[in-house]
Amino acid sequence: MAANYKGRLWAHTFAIGRERDRGALQRFLTKKYGGQAILTKNGRSALALALKAYFEPGDAVIVNGFTCYAVYEAVKAAGLVPVWADISSGDLNYNATTLTAALRAGPAVAASPTVLDSRLRAAGDPPAPSPARIKPVGIIIQNSLGNPVDIAAIEKFAKKHNLTIIEDLAHCAGVKYPDGREAGTVGTAAALSFGKDKAIDTISGGAVVLRDPCKTAIKAPSKLPKVSDTLRARFYPLLGSIARGLSHVRLGGAFMRCLVKIHWVEKSADNKLDLERKIAKFEAKLALKQLKNLKKSGEPPLREFYLVRDRAEVLKKLQEKGYYFGGFWYEKPVSPERYYKKVHFPEDKCLVATEVAAKIINFPTYYSKKDLEPAHKIVAEYMEGEK
Ligand SMILES: *Cc1c(COP(=O)(O)O)cnc(C)c1O
Repeated sequence: MAANYKGRLWAHTFAIGRERDRGALQRFLTKKYGGQAILTKNGRSALALALKAYFEPGDAVIVNGFTCYAVYEAVKAAGLVPVWADISSGDLNYNATTLTAALRAGPAVAASPTVLDSRLRAAGDPPAPSPARIKPVGIIIQNSLGNPVDIAAIEKFAKKHNLTIIEDLAHCAGVKYPDGREAGTVGTAAALSFGKDKAIDTISGGAVVLRDPCKTAIKAPSKLPKVSDTLRARFYPLLGSIARGLSHVRLGGAFMRCLVKIHWVEKSADNKLDLERKIAKFEAKLALKQLKNLKKSGEPPLREFYLVRDRAEVLKKLQEKGYYFGGFWYEKPVSPERYYKKVHFPEDKCLVATEVAAKIINFPTYYSKKDLEPAHKIVAEYMEGEK
């Protein structure tokens, strides 16, 4: 995907979408994943719809303890309580052992009524559920950075504990599990993100495929996207490429910060969850094209990651070399840092995730393999272990 990034820049900036592109994408997803496909503003809205369709407010769901704040937002929007499971440092995913530990520990938040955020309470949602109610009823599979979980083990665990499986395909659209099945074809629902740097990347947009009959009926978004959001999504790749150009004279970061200040660019984590708004037409068109290409290339997009000593120094060296890294996945167990405190993440129960988040580094998908060669060399000097 990275190799043809420049070609995609122009195709993205000048893409013309039509109403029928939304229909075509929806039909494609229905056929590919088998279920009712609904297009959404972004991935977190898609995930929230999946959770609302199969769970009830107050339910607990198991979440990979190394993830994006977007996932936490979706869990909260559905009124659910997250149960964080620790990860392995080899694939950044939970496993049968950490899942068992997570079940035993339960939600870190169960006893405290302060944790359901004030917005939820203001909206008249139920108060924090009592610990007794908090046996998880669902599990979200993430396949972190495109590394598949041991799906057979996870399915066995889910069956034993009566957990409904939701697959989050933000990192892993097109990825195959060890047993050959494709991510998105196993669970009760699959949520896709088409956001910046995701496996399918049209800057924003998302979709959910509801594969089993819903417990709660879900309404498809009916409002048009905001013009300002659509403009931002259209011009982000162009502005990003200018920022990367300026990074050679070390001005990329400053340029991006200015754009964020004047709201021409929105940080990924700030993209609002919105269950009412549709995907932009041009994003639907581009997402369909990329989804069709997934099959052809056969090589799933994946961020290689490394665990390094002294990450601040590595990042500084990369910057000096002229790289522009807006961020990497993930600098906190639930990232980005500026929202981390809201999560009340149980670091004491997720020691590996906490350590990995302090040491990990990985590269954005907008650089080609060749562009990244010097970066790999820099990182190698500081490496603690390679995947
Ligand atoms: C980015 C991300 C999402 C959803 O992202 P949006 O920005 O809302 O499209 C969902 N899950 C994971 C794991 C992600 O990294």
